[in-house]
Amino acid sequence: PLVLGIETSCDETGVGIVRGTTVLANVISSSMAEHARFGGVVPEVAARAHLEALGPTLQTALERAGVGFDDLDALAVTAGPGLSGALMVGVGAAKGLATATGLPLYGVNHLVGHVAADILHDEGVEGRDVEYPTIALLVSGGHTSLLLVRDLIDDVELLGETIDDAAGEAFDKVARLLGLPYPGGPEIDRVAREGDPTAIRFPRGLTKPSDLARHRYDFSFSGVKTAVARWVEQRADSGETVPVADVAASFREAVVDVLLGKAVAACRDLGVPRLLLGGGVVANARVREVAAHRCADAGIALRIPPLSLCTDNGAMIAAVGARLVSAGRPPSRLDFGADSSLPVTEAQVAAH
Ligand code: ATP
Ligand code: MG
Ligand code: FE
Repeated sequence: PLVLGIETSCDETGVGIVRGTTVLANVISSSMAEHARFGGVVPEVAARAHLEALGPTLQTALERAGVGFDDLDALAVTAGPGLSGALMVGVGAAKGLATATGLPLYGVNHLVGHVAADILHDEGVEGRDVEYPTIALLVSGGHTSLLLVRDLIDDVELLGETIDDAAGEAFDKVARLLGLPYPGGPEIDRVAREGDPTAIRFPRGLTKPSDLARHRYDFSFSGVKTAVARWVEQRADSGETVPVADVAASFREAVVDVLLGKAVAACRDLGVPRLLLGGGVVANARVREVAAHRCADAGIALRIPPLSLCTDNGAMIAAVGARLVSAGRPPSRLDFGADSSLPVTEAQVAAH
């Protein structure tokens, strides 16, 4: 099926068009730069940016794919989780399009979209055979989730998530206190290359059993962030220069150690020999290195989609829609809303 997907859950306005698992267009407009002076995504600013970008992004996607609304079989839109105001722009626009064109509309789960990125491939490129079950580690500015996927649209289980900051958010906050610009992830990654990752032993959050955890593999990154802040403060107070590269490398090591430690442990504990990575933090050089090493050691097949599909985009949302259409699922009722905390067990909202 030919499906158009709309994504507006955070700061990327994405429109993607897929035929089954083949990407025909994947156009993204990001408001990231507008959030730079605030050091993080500002919901109101993101929502307004979606409103302005969605029309042109939609038009460009249709042009690039060389299709019109008449050619489409269905529409899909991110219904949640994400920022309420941002989600509402996409959901509102999608309902308008569905009503005007008569196309069926599927309200889909953003996290399931990140998992679906794995089944996508460009035109003329052989698709990969996706095997389930797989463990999926999704890490970005807004989420840090560990999932057990037995079936993309019918069986996704939450194994763990962050109980405070998302990993990308922690990168952004630590970068800020080191005087590095936003977004902090790429900056810390760059600076860390010159540093010693063993210089400072920062805490690994929630690696021992804790009452704070609700799931077996929950994450916590506010502790490491606070530890970095204290360490830097003490240095500055005593008049010593802060070894920014060592701090960045040691912080990055602490975060990556926990992320891959838990993901690989879940693979082992549950006997799942596959690990899929997704989300913007997958751009991190150390995440990739450690993932490659530890997966090779443990005999786990590692899958990392191209970065353009790891960060938020419309094609991954369209891919979930296409799977729902192929499975013969009825479209969502048009009275669904944006659900900022949609559970990952719900691949589709308002499914009659
Ligand atoms: P969502 O949470 O809905 O997926 P988002 O916009 O917060 O959306 P992305 O756009 O996927 O997430 O990723 C942005 C985040 O990834 C930022 O927090 C950024 O600092 C982080 N990031 C990007 N590159 C790197 C890197 N090389 N190392 C670590 N973090 C990175
Ligand atoms: Mg983003
Ligand atoms: Fe995302």
